[in-house]
Amino acid sequence: MTVRVRFAPSPTGYLHVGSARTALFNYLFAHHHGGAFILRSDDTDDARSTEEFQQDILTHLRWLGLDWDEGFAKGGPHGSYRQSDRYGRYADVAHTLVRDGKAYYSFATADQLDEFRSNARDSQTSPAYDGSMEPSYEQVARRIADGEKAVVRFRVPRPGETSFSDVVRGEMRFDHAQVDDFVILRSDGTPTYHLASTVDDVDYGITHVIRGEDILSSTPKHILLTEAMGGDRATYAHLSLLLGPDGKKLSKRHGDTAMSAYREAGYLPDAMNNYLALLGWNVGEEEDVVSLDEMVERFELEAVSRNPAVFDTRKLEWLNGVYMREMDDDAFVAVVLPLVEEDLGRELDPSERGTLRSMAPLVKERTKLLPEVAAQVRFLFTPIEGYDDASWSTVMETPEAPAALDGAATALGAIDEWSTAAIDGALRGMLETAGLSARRGLQPIRVAVSGSTVSPPLFESLEALGRDETLVRIAAARARLG
Ligand code: GLU
Repeated sequence: MTVRVRFAPSPTGYLHVGSARTALFNYLFAHHHGGAFILRSDDTDDARSTEEFQQDILTHLRWLGLDWDEGFAKGGPHGSYRQSDRYGRYADVAHTLVRDGKAYYSFATADQLDEFRSNARDSQTSPAYDGSMEPSYEQVARRIADGEKAVVRFRVPRPGETSFSDVVRGEMRFDHAQVDDFVILRSDGTPTYHLASTVDDVDYGITHVIRGEDILSSTPKHILLTEAMGGDRATYAHLSLLLGPDGKKLSKRHGDTAMSAYREAGYLPDAMNNYLALLGWNVGEEEDVVSLDEMVERFELEAVSRNPAVFDTRKLEWLNGVYMREMDDDAFVAVVLPLVEEDLGRELDPSERGTLRSMAPLVKERTKLLPEVAAQVRFLFTPIEGYDDASWSTVMETPEAPAALDGAATALGAIDEWSTAAIDGALRGMLETAGLSARRGLQPIRVAVSGSTVSPPLFESLEALGRDETLVRIAAARARLG
């Protein structure tokens, strides 16, 4: 059997981090088994689906590198993978089920259903709607012929139960006494989610349905429908919910939930995938950093935990820092150059690009998020706009600062060849002569040239800045001290 899985987001919102994890687990499972990862657009909710959301989902799946083998915006042997293109097919299936006695036209109104349920409560019988309020067969035929609107409901076999073994959650059992005869076709002829999703899963030959736990209670309906259609039952795996740090369902209250926000905040797609994989999957022994290829190699659905996973941005940030440091210098420069240029509002010339390249290994070590890079290197490419207040008061308003700046100006002015090693030697000599500690003596120089106490390593920064600019900035800070 060839594994075929699908990721079926509804374009009713931006790609959510929880959905991205569902996509990732489908991708890993498909690739691990040499199967197909299919993308479907579940756009049956016409009022809430938008093209913008649809594009956002595609953009961010591609950004994560979770490319699909077949499906929406790609094509494949099953024609359209967008549900709104397949309404005819769903209606056909619904009508076939009616003809076979497995579904029926239903005229029950919302009020009548309420009444049914309240009667069931009073008499302590099953609250699941069983079609008992529908008119006789002859009346149905007449009312339909008269043009009266009706929905189509699936006839749930009663008594009965549906059970299945969920790969993540274990044995599941649903008593049909709790399952309504559910609507499959609305009165306007459009399908419900249950019908569209099941027909597609059957038509596309889906072998494993890996999706969020929020849909678990729909699964018995999908199994009943699949069997009524004569399809093969898929294996189901329902992934636990993501929680915020307070243990409540992850929502906007906890911070960003849209993948776009993480992309814009400067997270790397590899770090994001790695982090998402850790949410519920025990990737390896005590090991957190694993590449996508390795994840594919090791992925096992059976190893996914049924316990809810906590989405913790601190850990994500840490992982992102790991990925930044491990990035090849050239790749790093390629990613940050546009951000630096955008920050400066101009392009870097070739010599400045060389500077950025030479600072890359140092900057990488100190960054967790990409946008921090532009702020860290800005002072190398443009005059500083002023001094960070806190840095100035802690570092410059000290008795040692004037001597440090004066000593640095003299020592740096006397260097023959402007290099990191020579700067290092000259400034250490200055510290010794002036009797200053490295912290007391070097921090004023850092603030003078970069405007703040937080910058890449000092000696390399001065080399990159050049002697003239270094001396000009030291003099300016010294003058401000008076
Ligand atoms: N379209 C559903 C959603 O976005 C998922 C459907 C499924 O995986 O069966 O939540």
